[in-house]
Amino acid sequence: MEVILWLTDTIMPSDQECLQCGRCCEKWGWGQKGVIEDLIPWLKERRLDILQHVSVTFLGGKRCRGSDIAVEDLSVPVRIDYWVDTDGRKLTCCPFFYRAEDGKVYCKIHTAKPKICTGFTPWNEGIRDYALNCPACRNSAP
Ligand code: SF4
Ligand code: SF4
Repeated sequence: MEVILWLTDTIMPSDQECLQCGRCCEKWGWGQKGVIEDLIPWLKERRLDILQHVSVTFLGGKRCRGSDIAVEDLSVPVRIDYWVDTDGRKLTCCPFFYRAEDGKVYCKIHTAKPKICTGFTPWNEGIRDYALNCPACRNSAP
């Protein structure tokens, strides 16, 4: 079984403590655009568990799942979308979201999560609308 790690320990400043409520992943963890920089390591490491949930659309409209392409296919412009089910249908939740029995939420791909997740730091960017809904951010909100 895949190791499940703490949801945000790589992005939370040391003076903050993520309460792992999962609110941010539930609200923004799906329906997001992806980047080639995410796909390259997933393809090289054969992360089919992740790639099967990625939609890749080529110029002209041809659409594939990430698990059906190779690194070389990314030499042309593509549109990347997170996440789809194994039949290619858009998901309205993140397939890697896991709520444990203790009520806390864990990311099942913590060490390989996409940049949209690792780069999401509302406490640094003053997104007050969001921060006020984050129980951890609220601790430092004015
Ligand atoms: S909303 Fe805040 S406390 Fe909840 S998981 Fe996201 S960062 Fe952590
Ligand atoms: S990949 Fe992980 S961090 Fe990103 S939305 Fe899903 S559960 Fe949250």
